[in-house]
Amino acid sequence: MSLFRNFFIMLSNNTYLNEVAKRVGPQMGANRVVAGNTIPQLIETIQYLNDNKISVTVDCLGEFVNSKEESLSAKAQILEIIEAIHSYDVKAHMSVKISQLGSEFDLDLAYKNMREILLKADECGNMHINIDTENYDSLQKIQYVIDKLKGEFNNVGTVVQPYLYEAENLIDKYPDLHLRIVKGTYKENESIAYQTKDQIDDNYIYIIKKRLLNAHNFTSIAKHDDKIINQIKQFMKENHIEKEQMEFQMLYGFRSELAQSIANEGYHFTVYVPYGDDWFAYFMRRLAERPQNLTLAFQEFAKPKVLQKVGLCISIMSIIGAPFILATKLFKK
Ligand SMILES: Cc1cc2nc3c(=O)[nH]c(=O)nc-3n(C[C@H](O)[C@H](O)[C@H](O)COP(=O)(O)OP(=O)(O)OC[C@H]3O[C@@H](n4cnc5c(N)ncnc54)[C@H](O)[C@@H]3O)c2cc1C
Repeated sequence: MSLFRNFFIMLSNNTYLNEVAKRVGPQMGANRVVAGNTIPQLIETIQYLNDNKISVTVDCLGEFVNSKEESLSAKAQILEIIEAIHSYDVKAHMSVKISQLGSEFDLDLAYKNMREILLKADECGNMHINIDTENYDSLQKIQYVIDKLKGEFNNVGTVVQPYLYEAENLIDKYPDLHLRIVKGTYKENESIAYQTKDQIDDNYIYIIKKRLLNAHNFTSIAKHDDKIINQIKQFMKENHIEKEQMEFQMLYGFRSELAQSIANEGYHFTVYVPYGDDWFAYFMRRLAERPQNLTLAFQEFAKPKVLQKVGLCISIMSIIGAPFILATKLFKK
């Protein structure tokens, strides 16, 4: 299991594969968990979810940003999406990674880019901007940016990952900030993070309960596990915690029926919708966290159109390969 996870995490971090993937577009079923790469496609997806009582947080995909130009281009795309959400009047906000904005090589540039995004979002109906968490190395950087911005803006929030031992310190540090609580999706070692599912689930529930009892701001609970979701609902009932204080969240393309049934019960619900060309790292992380997600890829391979292509490839390889194999066998003899 850990080998499987490590393999897909390794693929997600491969910059060459990410570049190639960007050029060929979403493959292997990724198009079922990424909402296209044009604004009309994105707005159509948001509208569909809104019509079903579900709000959206848009992730403009992109991670391996190594130059100022790339960071400015990522910022420009994010500003364009904010503008579109506002002008189409759909119910959505944005999730942004500081690495997209240049934090890997110039943290102040990332801060300035983020500030510009928050100013634009503020103009566009005080839209919420969530700063996603990445691997452990980025945590100090995210706090640096958040700490500089949270006095000036009330539309910024971030994420806490209870697989980290540090999660409790973070919810204690930020009771006034809009926080999303997610398990955590990167590979972290045991000196900083819990390793087993039971330990991570226990800490997840502990962190959620503490947060819901003590926070002075909204909490987003990002979970696909119905057992944990039911435990949280029960805890809220027993402790008279209002539905208005929180929402549930899931990733686009996963457990849609469960998402719909929770929204129908009257809970706020937001789906995280990835958008754009840079789909590979995101998709590999989804495969890493749940072997069953490979069915997305298998279903895609089973489509007649894809089978035809696979069949054609095998035929071409046999036509080219057969004489070659025959020749090498004759030579050996
Ligand atoms: C809205 C949102 C935002 C996120 N933002 C971040 C972020 O900023 N930083 C970060 O590190 N991570 C982020 N993540 C990813 C997160 O950390 C987890 O990796 C991801 O949510 C999977 O973990 P889980 O706790 O939801 O469920 P898992 O631990 O993967 O699954 C637990 C159980 O849930 C059930 N389950 C899960 N998926 C399915 C399915 N598709 N079908 C049927 N049953 C299923 C199964 O019973 C499974 O055993 C985000 C996730 C979401 C939903």
